[in-house]
Amino acid sequence: MSVRPALAPYPIWAYLPAMNEMTSPASVTAADTRTALVGLSRAALQEAVAALDEKPFRAKQLWHWIYHRGARDFAAMTDLSKPFRARLEEHHIVGRPAVAREQTSVDGTRKWLMQYDDGQKAETVFIPEEDRGAVCVSSQVGCTLTCRFCHTGTQRLVRNLTPFEIVGQFMTARDSYGEWPTPTDERRMLSNIVLMGMGEPLYNFDNVATAMKIVMADDGIALGKRRITLSTSGVVPEIHRAGAELGVNLAISLHAPDDDTRSTLMPINKKYPLKELMAACRDYPGASNARRITFEYVMLKDINDTPAHARALIKLVRNIPCKFNLIPFNPWPGTPYECSDADTVVAFADQLAEAGFTAPIRTPRGRDILAACGQLKTDSEKLSAKELRAREAALAETWAEKEAAV
Ligand code: SAH
Ligand code: SF4
Repeated sequence: MSVRPALAPYPIWAYLPAMNEMTSPASVTAADTRTALVGLSRAALQEAVAALDEKPFRAKQLWHWIYHRGARDFAAMTDLSKPFRARLEEHHIVGRPAVAREQTSVDGTRKWLMQYDDGQKAETVFIPEEDRGAVCVSSQVGCTLTCRFCHTGTQRLVRNLTPFEIVGQFMTARDSYGEWPTPTDERRMLSNIVLMGMGEPLYNFDNVATAMKIVMADDGIALGKRRITLSTSGVVPEIHRAGAELGVNLAISLHAPDDDTRSTLMPINKKYPLKELMAACRDYPGASNARRITFEYVMLKDINDTPAHARALIKLVRNIPCKFNLIPFNPWPGTPYECSDADTVVAFADQLAEAGFTAPIRTPRGRDILAACGQLKTDSEKLSAKELRAREAALAETWAEKEAAV
């Protein structure tokens, strides 16, 4: 592998204690063997109810309590008989991931560190706007891929999150803002979901799909498919399914207009090169001028940010209904890259805009708590220069190992 990470200067906030750090005890203990109802598909919930000798309509009532009212314990479900509640209590929990840490950034961005029953952790971020906001949800602990600019990619340990662990992230965020019962009009603070947290959602499609079908159901959380965006590094064979089975918005982490640059930044490009990726985008069900695919493009100094790159990009996406999201690179301790200069980013955006594309420059959010794009990782550390050099060597090794497995 040609890229050797060089020690880059990293900003002071990487070493600062997090703002408003809060810790809370785990809400579910490892010794509790009862199963969570959150995350069961509707059919699986019906089966759980049948196993307790109850009629099917009880499943509908439970669904309403769990996903419309946000009830966290059975005692609150007052229209269920006491014996039924007792049996539920014996065999199940409603279910929330334990929150190991909650932090709020100076800009209002909030991040939760979820701790699951096996001790594994994943992060969830809420990015508030004035009267709405997106919850950025993780789909895996870590990521099997090794995009060079991404902090999550340096994490060795990886496992898929279950539907409970995925839906539970969104529900925990709503608990934190008290947004229950589900608002019946369109006005809600937690108005969108972006599958842009840790992990590659298309490597965990079945669990992601079960979770998204739960949040989309009209008689529960009722978040429309247009309010959900799935971001992928480009797992070509699974892209069509996301459109056909879920109908959610598609975002592609593009980051380079040619195979050489993209393969260096994102090794998955060697498996699914740009020609195949662009064909999958052209075929994406439901994509139209009214519903464009988003190409995410992280701005990396001297790597992918020249006028020639912009020209190549414009040519590459011809005939695809799309827009761009230019993301200033968010640094993390030990990263080999730097963010492009502000003037370069603006010139790049202007070039795309002149060619007729929407190409906003995304304002980084939550950098002070390492909550911005690509900064999520579940064993945040503060490192000395010596430790950073050791990290540099370990990083190169991790990348080599994981790449061999792609
Ligand atoms: N695995 C999926 C979704 C998670 S990453 C994917 O790659 O699409 C969410 C977005 O953040 C992706 O576009 C990713 O490329 C981008 N990203 C990763 N590291 C980043 C960094 N350090 N700075 C800015 N954006 C980054
Ligand atoms: Fe994984 Fe996405 Fe990060 Fe790449 S950018 S390592 S696919 S999380």
